[in-house]
Amino acid sequence: MARWSRSDARPGFTRAPWPYWANKYELSPAGAERFAARGAPDREALERFIREGATLQTIADQSDRSIATVRYWLNKWSIPRPQKRARVDTATAPRVITRRCQRHGVTSFGLEGRGYYRCLLCRQERVSDWRRRVQRTLIAEAGGKCHVCGYDRCPAALQFHHRDPAEKSFALSHDGVARSIARATAEATKCVLLCANYHAEVKSVTRSSSNV
Ligand SMILES: [Zn+2]
Ligand SMILES: [Zn+2]
Repeated sequence: MARWSRSDARPGFTRAPWPYWANKYELSPAGAERFAARGAPDREALERFIREGATLQTIADQSDRSIATVRYWLNKWSIPRPQKRARVDTATAPRVITRRCQRHGVTSFGLEGRGYYRCLLCRQERVSDWRRRVQRTLIAEAGGKCHVCGYDRCPAALQFHHRDPAEKSFALSHDGVARSIARATAEATKCVLLCANYHAEVKSVTRSSSNV
């Protein structure tokens, strides 16, 4: 049986690097079974991410799959992969450039920390989606209605009132939900849910009594 020796490993006469490219292009049947067994991610969501120009990393994070799994399903469904965009030097590259977004047309792209540009409108939409989701969760956990009058029609008109203002770390009704969900949840436990009317009333009463 032939054995590899040092003298065989000379330039131009090397073994085909099977494991390397087989893994790279995910052609190995064992790999295919593994990714299929994990279950397909939402195909429409994948297509939307690609349209928005999301990176594989972003797609993986947001669909709770590994990058390899995302790549596998993109190939399987013949969804064109995100264009490999050159990473730029974040120290010298412009913060904002103009580029075409598949959803928003020609618009501003902002430089992200990892050295890639992303459509600012897409980013903003993702952030507002996420804030709305956090706000809804917090409101539901806080009982879903005004503590005083029971109002529950419009979540936008429900506000978190800090029972003890001294305990207040940040306001939940506004920018607060942009922080981590764990911190927001902890903050919500110090609050009582009130409708906007009662909240205004409670605040004015507290203010005038402390002024007396
Ligand atoms: Zn966009
Ligand atoms: Zn109320």
